[in-house]
Amino acid sequence: MTKKQFKAESKRLLEMMINSIYTHKEVFLRELISNASDAIDKIYYKALTDDSLTFDKDSYFVKVIPDKENRTLTIRDTGIGMAKEELENNLGVIAKSGSLAFKTENEIKDGYDIIGQFGVGFYSAFMVADVVTVISKALGSDEAYKWESTGADGYTIEPYEKEEVGTEIILQIKENTEDESYDEYLEAYQLKATIKKYSDFIRYPIKMDITSS
Ligand code: ADP
Ligand code: MG
Repeated sequence: MTKKQFKAESKRLLEMMINSIYTHKEVFLRELISNASDAIDKIYYKALTDDSLTFDKDSYFVKVIPDKENRTLTIRDTGIGMAKEELENNLGVIAKSGSLAFKTENEIKDGYDIIGQFGVGFYSAFMVADVVTVISKALGSDEAYKWESTGADGYTIEPYEKEEVGTEIILQIKENTEDESYDEYLEAYQLKATIKKYSDFIRYPIKMDITSS
C-alpha cells in the first residue's frame, strides 16, 4: 500500500499544533466529541430535507470506549460518516474544515449547532495517540474505509468492513514517558470528568463502554 504524504504546509502546521496549540492535552476529547456531534447534526439536517430519511433521536449517540489492555480509546458515532474522498480531503488536509463546507453548501445560518469550522480539531488526537485509525461508512454508501496515520508522515487508506453508517476513531494511546503519563486517557472516571468539563453542552447522549479494567 502506498503511503500518501500530507501537503507541506499541513506537515508544518501539524507539528506546530501537536507541540504547542493546546496546553491541555485532554481537549482532544472535546474535539473528537464535537466532530461526532457535528456528524449527527448533519444526518439530522439531511433528514429534514430528504423524505426517505428519518431521524430517530434514540439511535443517535456518541460512544467513548476506553480499553486499558490494548491501550486504545475509541470514539464511535452514528453520524453521517465519511466517503473515501471525504476521508482524503477532510482528514488529509489540515486547516480544511468539511463542516464549514457543509454549512455553506446547505446554507445553514449562524445559530445552528455545527461546531467545527477551523479545521484543526481532529489532529489534536495526535497529542495523546501515536496511531489514529478512522473507520467510516458514509450515509448512502455501501463501502466503508479505514484511514490510518501515525502523524506528520502521512496516512494510508483502504477498504474495510463496517455494517452501520457512522465513524469510529481508534486512538492508540501513547506510552508513558519520564515526564508525561497518558494513562488518564484510558481511565473511565477521568474521561467522564473531561466530558463533563468540555462536552456538557452536546445535544446527543455520550455513552461509555468499558471493555477492560
Ligand atoms: P472542523 O470540525 O473544525 O471542521 P476537524 O479537524 O475537527 O475540523 O475535522 C475535519 C473534518 O473532518 C470535519 O469538518 C468533518 O468533515 C470531518 N470529520 C471529522 N470527524 C468526523 C466524524 N466523526 N464524522 C464525520 N466527519 C468527520
Ligand atoms: Mg472539529
